[in-house]
Amino acid sequence: MEELRERALVELFGALEGKYGPNYECKYYPCHFHGQDCSLCFCPFYPCLLYDLGGEIKITSNGYVWNCQNCFWIHRPENVEEVLAALSGYSRQQLIEGDWYFFNSILQRLYYGSEFGIWEGEAYNLMPAMLRNECEPVEKAEFLNVILEGFEIQSIHRCTSVEGEGVFIPLKEDEKLFGLLNGNFVVCKV
Ligand code: SF4
Repeated sequence: MEELRERALVELFGALEGKYGPNYECKYYPCHFHGQDCSLCFCPFYPCLLYDLGGEIKITSNGYVWNCQNCFWIHRPENVEEVLAALSGYSRQQLIEGDWYFFNSILQRLYYGSEFGIWEGEAYNLMPAMLRNECEPVEKAEFLNVILEGFEIQSIHRCTSVEGEGVFIPLKEDEKLFGLLNGNFVVCKV
């Protein structure tokens, strides 16, 4: 996984020197759509844990992974432009040393216009970023506590309260998100 992170940074630094757009030589091109921008193929925000961008949690034989197959956002030329403009405001050293929270708050500001994740003690509650669409109260809802080590998902547990450490995100089932918002259990549309 560290290798993946290194690759993402190397690619990012290359893109900061001058992005190259579609990579017609890649055997997977176009992995998302014709004309896509491949500059950030190894996404610097991975694993963003933000369903709104199209990613989701998958269970594989190697455990939990954040699957980005349906994220088109990072490949749209105008978004690549915006990401590179934002990240060019940091030194290479800051980008190398930046942890998951550093990158995730940048992504939230780019995508939502503001950071909606909230620190609650050692816990980082990312649910307010995603529970925004046609929410309704429910009696009880389980959501997910994601434990990260660096940029790697170590474990994921279902839970019903925000306590302890790690990142808390809604549970996604079909096109519904279950979680806790302002102290109330809710179900919202993705
Ligand atoms: S869902 Fe998109 S923005 Fe999020 S980690 Fe995957 S590729 Fe990056």
